[in-house]
Amino acid sequence: MTDTGRPAAPVRAITFDLDFTLWDLEGVLHRAEELQYRFLAEHYPEVARRYTHRALQALRFTLYEERADLRYNVTELRKAALRRVAGECGYDEAMVEQAFEVFLDARHEVKLYEDVEPLLARLHGRYVLGVITNGNADIRRFGIGQYFDFALTPMDIGAAKPDRAIFEAACRHAGVEPAEVAHVGDDPEADVIGAASFGMQAVWLNRTSAAWPQGLVRPPCIELPSLADLDRQFQTQLLPS
Ligand SMILES: [Mg+2]
Repeated sequence: MTDTGRPAAPVRAITFDLDFTLWDLEGVLHRAEELQYRFLAEHYPEVARRYTHRALQALRFTLYEERADLRYNVTELRKAALRRVAGECGYDEAMVEQAFEVFLDARHEVKLYEDVEPLLARLHGRYVLGVITNGNADIRRFGIGQYFDFALTPMDIGAAKPDRAIFEAACRHAGVEPAEVAHVGDDPEADVIGAASFGMQAVWLNRTSAAWPQGLVRPPCIELPSLADLDRQFQTQLLPS
């Protein structure tokens, strides 16, 4: 049942957001950027002579404003900022790749919420399971990659949530209709409005008991405080095995 009182279509596929849905990202990006800056200062000292940590961040924000083509590609945006700095400081592409890897490794140092793995183990084999993230985390790095049939990032699709193109791609990968997909995420706009607008069943994972943001129209959705009961929310249509 949705909170409109209408019976929902049977769910055949479930897609998940990653950051703040499967794991806590609080402080993680900040720490990853710090580690990257320390790496640069040690191995590419001219960078630290010309740029403070803050100035490097500011350069990325400037590029974000200037380069509409990078707005949905957080990996290329970070690399473009590093590339500009490398050029100014007389370093080559190796600096870009190494410094990005330092960031990316640290960006994956997150802790899964405790309700995640038990849920995925229960869902596995009963539903097509997918990931739709706006970030650049790789689900295969967490030991839960085996539960998922596909993972989509804006880098693959050229569009980010809430753009319908990324939800459309998820339906294609799952081989199901939008109404047969439940999308689960913490972000009211990107996840809940994005999925509901495309005709999916939207699940707002509200771990922090946040109020729905003023100024956003709330679509019909299931609101849950954790993932513990997620699988009790849907009418299921078991997949042919
Ligand atoms: Mg999220």
